[in-house]
Amino acid sequence: MRSLNDEAGNGPAVASPSHDGRAPAHGGRARFDYLIVGAGFAGSVLAERLARGLDKRVLLIDRRPHIGGNAYDHLNDDGLLIHRYGPHIFHTNSQQVVDYLSRFTGWRPYEHRVLAQAAGQLVPIPINRTTVNRLYGLDLDEAGVATFLKSKAEPVAEVRTSEDVVVGAVGRELYETFFRGYTRKQWGLDPSELDRSVTARVPTRTNDDDRYFGDKFQMMPLHGYTRMFEAMLDHPNITLALGSDHRTVAREVRYDRLIFTGPVDEYFDFRFGRLPYRSLRFRHETVDREWFQPVGVVNYPAEEVAHTRITEYKHLTGQSHPRTALTYEYPSAEGDPYYPVPKPENAALYRQYQALADATPGVHFVGRLATYRYYNMDQVVGQALALYGRLAEAEAKGGTGGGTRAAAERIAAIGGRSATEPVAL
Ligand code: FAD
Ligand code: UDP
Repeated sequence: MRSLNDEAGNGPAVASPSHDGRAPAHGGRARFDYLIVGAGFAGSVLAERLARGLDKRVLLIDRRPHIGGNAYDHLNDDGLLIHRYGPHIFHTNSQQVVDYLSRFTGWRPYEHRVLAQAAGQLVPIPINRTTVNRLYGLDLDEAGVATFLKSKAEPVAEVRTSEDVVVGAVGRELYETFFRGYTRKQWGLDPSELDRSVTARVPTRTNDDDRYFGDKFQMMPLHGYTRMFEAMLDHPNITLALGSDHRTVAREVRYDRLIFTGPVDEYFDFRFGRLPYRSLRFRHETVDREWFQPVGVVNYPAEEVAHTRITEYKHLTGQSHPRTALTYEYPSAEGDPYYPVPKPENAALYRQYQALADATPGVHFVGRLATYRYYNMDQVVGQALALYGRLAEAEAKGGTGGGTRAAAERIAAIGGRSATEPVAL
């Protein structure tokens, strides 16, 4: 991996002969086959594949001062490994995504468990047998819990919203205890205004399984995400420019193709209006005791508590340390875009941008912000690998490598908690 200054002497505007003797600089500016905007999962996977798989010269940029996008982790002042943008737990059903990432990292087995603070106690979320028995002072077996929840569930003619999903499965009381307040805080919207897909991410169980995810593979990169990204980007064809914005860099270098992983509405200067993204404020702190809470994440569903959850990283990372690092999450309308907001009007607005994106030659949009999809990390990796497959195929045929949307749709079901379809690379 090179820096843009290595490439261009005094900075991006000044060219130098390329390091491999190919592709001389044009017009006094450094030249690349691909400019990739965003060094998160989407951009880094594509940089790695294009450099290593197709021998392309890639300039990978990010406006932040680090690689890894929202999955970036680092040691804090106390030497504790923390996630700057909140807890990132890797889980997937895709063997191909695991095989791909395993080229760059070993893994630490980790099954994520979450407790919710409800009715003065900590109970498992997703709702399971223990949750019901503890909250209601019962001792039901699995079948008993199923019958109990059925008696509480309200019939919903058409399950459309995030309220319908939960009320239809467990009834209004448990919905209000665990979902209504949390969702109103997290999204600034009532669950009745959000697509069903949002709360459907959290299943309901009648057995004792208290894992947050049901996926086949659940683990953490052995030395953290940033180390994994460093290994991924360690290639002489990849030039990295951090603290660099797309607009500035695009004026200063030459490139044949663009891969954009930032917000799609921003790319098009908000031509149809702003796509709503939800943000968060993170409060990171270290406390002077060995452990703070019994599991990696505790959720706070009550609407009057400002934060939604507290993460204690040592549970995730396995690190031994006399102190412990925490992150509190406070949802916010202002700040970096973290979550696309799944609701029908936003999907309609996104479709306008998508049509524009599809009609923009030489530019590919990929990732959570650029395709406005509430994707987990594995889904973004799958989406990026699928796009790479298309680009490689087109290259082999001497074509243009379009079809980003089709590629994205093929992998839409990779991750989440129910899908099992592998991605076709
Ligand atoms: P990003 O990681 O957002 O990367 C995009 C990059 O592009 C950013 O670094 C940004 O700075 C850069 N950029 C944007 N515009 C420009 C520009 N104009 N110029 C230069 N650079 C630009 N997924 C899981 O699988 N498990 C989890 O436990 C999990 N937890 C999460 C917790 C939180 C709080 C959040 C917000 C997300 C979580 N995710 C989780 C989702 C995960 O973060 C994403 O799926 C993944 O990081 C998306 O990768 P990306 O490359 O699409 O986007
Ligand atoms: N949710 C909730 N209560 C919980 C956990 C989740 O209401 O205790 C809802 C909330 O709307 C949340 C969504 O389910 O945004 C998805 O939860 P998940 O934990 O997958 O969110 P993420 O980790 O992506 O922030």
